Amino acid sequence: MILYNSLGQTKQEFIPHTPGKVNMYTCGPTVYHYAHIGNLRTYIMEDVLEKYLRFSGYDVNRVMNITDVGHLSSDADTGEDKMLKGAKREHKTVMEIAQFYTDAFFADCEKLNIKRPDVVEPATNCIDEFIDMVSVLLEKGYAYLAGGNVYFDTSKLSTYYVFGNMNEEDLAVGVRDSVEEDENKRNKTDFVLWFTKSKFEDQELKWESPWGLGYPGWHIECSCISKKHNGEYLDIHCGGVDNAFPHHTNEIAQSEAYLGHPWCKYWFHVLHLNDARGKMSKSKGDFLTVSLLESKGYDPVVYRMFCLQSHYRKPLTFSYESLDNCVKAYEKLMKRIAALGKDGDVQQEKADALLAKFKEAMDNDLNTSLGLTVVYDVLKADANDATKRYVLGELDKVLSLNLLKEKEEAPKEANPEDAEIEALIQKRTEARKNKDWATADAIRDQLAAMHIVVVDTKDGISWHRE
Ligand code: AMP
Ligand code: ZN
Repeated sequence: MILYNSLGQTKQEFIPHTPGKVNMYTCGPTVYHYAHIGNLRTYIMEDVLEKYLRFSGYDVNRVMNITDVGHLSSDADTGEDKMLKGAKREHKTVMEIAQFYTDAFFADCEKLNIKRPDVVEPATNCIDEFIDMVSVLLEKGYAYLAGGNVYFDTSKLSTYYVFGNMNEEDLAVGVRDSVEEDENKRNKTDFVLWFTKSKFEDQELKWESPWGLGYPGWHIECSCISKKHNGEYLDIHCGGVDNAFPHHTNEIAQSEAYLGHPWCKYWFHVLHLNDARGKMSKSKGDFLTVSLLESKGYDPVVYRMFCLQSHYRKPLTFSYESLDNCVKAYEKLMKRIAALGKDGDVQQEKADALLAKFKEAMDNDLNTSLGLTVVYDVLKADANDATKRYVLGELDKVLSLNLLKEKEEAPKEANPEDAEIEALIQKRTEARKNKDWATADAIRDQLAAMHIVVVDTKDGISWHRE
């Protein structure tokens, strides 16, 4: 498989450290609010990547953190803690907010057919691991204490900006909001590993540490949680492009300084979902959620299809008009699939040729829009319906668009006439048993007048309307 690697900014062949095994890490949500559909674009594309790696035969271990502490309103280590902001907004405790929005996140994921990662770890579970990594960084001389906080010293690295010439705009977003000067920092790019002093003294969650009562920085959590569950060598790390700097850049700095060797081989960044106002973001207040789309009558899976129609490395603009087009396309597609028969044997050679076409698209830097066109190729293919169904089922292991899911019939309302018909049939059976042919014939005529066809089968009597 060829994947674009932000590390090196080129398309590269994907070769994991251990043949057949992929250690994968995903930056999880900051659970102070609902995920918006921009966040979910990133998680949909990461889900497709994970499923495609499995489809290709890899044994994948995917780990995700839940950011429930340490993410400040500016990614440049300043501002209020986002969790605390959420708690204040809703007059709840930070842990209540975290639990509520973590559950809401996974409920949205389920609706979008996003598989839950193998390991999900909230940052607040791993305080000991953070303290251990920060202590080692101090011992190795990569960190320093200043003004009560522990900072990472970026001047100790030969290269800090590992992602090179990333789009200026994306880098600017990375340090969004007001960037305030922190005079404790020796270098502009240094970042906090552990806070004991913050302008926001009312931080709710604090833990004892060798440097005093405090809380971890945001970046350290991903380095530690990945190491805890994926070991010292990570194959692929994912996130939205705004995470590349400073978050991922800092993760690499501290992980490699701690480990003493290269850490993660491939970096997979999903470009943003924008709306008419630009990048969709939680801090903008009114943002689009899955529930909002549902309340407007949209099937969340249609939003998944909307995302798959575009390449993950292109920014995507959301509009209701394009979503409506997607609804039409999805409904048409599902009708064509529903019309496929179910009998017959799979023609394996034809199936393999169609699957090869899908692999060719996906192996080329996860080209989901081309992968999606293979669904249409399958429907048009010179193959029997059983083959088409089989291939669609295989493709849906990755696309997860419910391609073979039978439409749930609305439960039929009981027809009040049915009970009367059942009673008449019962009476007719009795009459026939008693050789009362006149009554039996009269009932038959009565049923015929009601357009009811009675059929005598070896299993008894059945009936239906004409
Ligand atoms: P957060 O909950 O803010 O930590 O973000 C969760 C994930 O969503 C991260 O991987 C972000 O990079 C990503 N993300 C944030 N905004 C957008 C957007 N507008 N489009 C796509 N991904 C985004
Ligand atoms: Zn992260």
